[in-house]
Amino acid sequence: MPGIDTTTLQRLDAAHHLHPFNDNAALAKRGTRILTRGEGCYVWDAEGNQLLDAFAGLWCVNVGYGRKELGRVAAHQMDELAYYNSFFQCTTEPTVRLSAKLAELTPHDLNHAFFTNSGSEANDTILRMVRHFWAVQGKPEKFNFISRHDGYHGSTVAGASLGGMKGMHKQGGLPIPGIHHIDPPYWFGDGGEMDEEEYGRVAAKRLEDKILELGPENVAAFIGEPVMGAIGVYIPPRNYWKEIERICRQYDVLLVADEVICGFGRTGNWFAAETFDFRPDVMTLAKGITSGYIPLGAVMFNDRVAEVLATKGGELAHGYTYSGHPVCAAVALENIRILQDEKIIETCRNDTGPYLAEKWKALGEHPLVGEARILGMVGALELVPRKPAREYFPDRGRVGQMCRDFALRSGLILRATNDAMLLSPPLVITKAQVDELAEKTWRALDLTA
Ligand code: PLP
Repeated sequence: MPGIDTTTLQRLDAAHHLHPFNDNAALAKRGTRILTRGEGCYVWDAEGNQLLDAFAGLWCVNVGYGRKELGRVAAHQMDELAYYNSFFQCTTEPTVRLSAKLAELTPHDLNHAFFTNSGSEANDTILRMVRHFWAVQGKPEKFNFISRHDGYHGSTVAGASLGGMKGMHKQGGLPIPGIHHIDPPYWFGDGGEMDEEEYGRVAAKRLEDKILELGPENVAAFIGEPVMGAIGVYIPPRNYWKEIERICRQYDVLLVADEVICGFGRTGNWFAAETFDFRPDVMTLAKGITSGYIPLGAVMFNDRVAEVLATKGGELAHGYTYSGHPVCAAVALENIRILQDEKIIETCRNDTGPYLAEKWKALGEHPLVGEARILGMVGALELVPRKPAREYFPDRGRVGQMCRDFALRSGLILRATNDAMLLSPPLVITKAQVDELAEKTWRALDLTA
């Protein structure tokens, strides 16, 4: 901000801004980092430090920073028609075009978009719409949702309840009734001696057990992140999602894929449902839909669900002032055009992704790393006190934070959850930047060890 020095900004921030997911007292002492500019995979802070952002902001800046086209499109749409809502029998051209584009891009018959402002709201939306879907068919008892412990589905009351983060449940008396959690597929944590395929079956069977415990006639849907991001990038066995799909079909339970992180290229395909070859009935989207340039979320419903909602449900008593906001829709369309025209996802899948995977896996040789896992452009290093044992440090989280801080000091942004170092760079990362990332990560590991 011109005219305000960094120290003053930090002081004002500490006095007036409560940061999400932070210990605000500790942050006030430490001082917030003020970021000023971004270009490609780099951001700069107010002190002039250049940082390689290996986390794409918050899993979202897929096309990289500084894409002027996105700003131009937003400005143009604001000049033409800055706002109109999708209530009252109206819509706008970008909103319609984006609905059609998402129907074309998402797999199978996910042909119907409902727009929100965020991933949390998208997951809130499905809680109500899926229950409504069953209720209008005379099955109001199909009310219960099943999700995973340690999953993340957002911060609203429904999102955080669907999520399985214990720390979030403690604040505000969550989860709300009708939500049940099963253990996630976390091979490093509980895979034991099982091979991938056996573990995939065992982990998926937890869903069947829970459905049978609740009674299939009482279960509305299962929701999961194809790759569980926030908890530490848990990449499931290849057969896990196919098994989950089979179980959902067997008991007529809807399958919801939360692709807020995975969507728009993160796993090497447009959507992780393609990477894992399964067919969700409902998909939630956000983040990469606009590469984080402007807030937008969406729910994609398949033909079966949408038809019931449209023909049997009467008025859809749900929506947001900004559902289908024309400026956000225009930015999303331009973001998708960039991803398509520049073949960014294909390049990740065939070229930079495999290169990143090779370099990331090589970090697994470091004495501090118990497992280096990666899928497409999302990965984690599991830090351990002793190799090859799958053990945790006693005060979980401290070592990860040290490593994160060492990385930051050398100009690299990595995120740490517990003692896992998380990776999710902009999809436009180059091989030279992958080298920089690998070299800086190794150095941070050395300093931490
Ligand atoms: N779902 C997943 C898998 C996420 O990772 C997130 C955010 O990180 C959300 C939902 C919530 O999205 P938002 O923060 O846009 O509300």
